[in-house]
Amino acid sequence: MSIEKTLSIIKPDATARNITGQVNSIIEKSGLKIIAQKRIKLTKDVASKFYEVHKDRPFYQDLVSFMVSGPVVVQVLQGNNAVALYRQVMGSTNPEEAEEGTIRKEFAQSIEANSVHGSDSLENAQKEISFFFAETELFES
Ligand code: ADP
Ligand code: MG
Repeated sequence: MSIEKTLSIIKPDATARNITGQVNSIIEKSGLKIIAQKRIKLTKDVASKFYEVHKDRPFYQDLVSFMVSGPVVVQVLQGNNAVALYRQVMGSTNPEEAEEGTIRKEFAQSIEANSVHGSDSLENAQKEISFFFAETELFES
């Protein structure tokens, strides 16, 4: 068991439907603790940089446009094996393949508008957290 932190983003399709509380409820029921959270508007530059790893994928431009189409909620989640646990709690990228009870099965509208982001490795989690949060915004308990 190791206590980790991971970055979560509640995406514009979810903020638009006013279901951020329902998403947070699933997160908290899983045992993960929301230790930092802010609702922001991503600029095109920030969204492009955040998803730069996908810049050669055919969906990259659409993804960036989607991510700036409305507010997002960026969050830091903490708990035992938080990175892998949150990937499970989110469910598969494609909601048609997501398991019952996962956030994407419950709420995602499409493979793109799939309601949440979660870091895919501990290394990326640390990078993504420092991309959005200053040390002083993280109060571990
Ligand atoms: P995940 O968010 O599950 O880690 P990826 O890192 O592969 O998935 O993709 C990043 C995001 O890009 C996805 O969450 C989704 O919003 C979008 N995306 C992924 N694959 C596709 C696709 N085939 N068509 C459109 N959008 C996609
Ligand atoms: Mg990913």
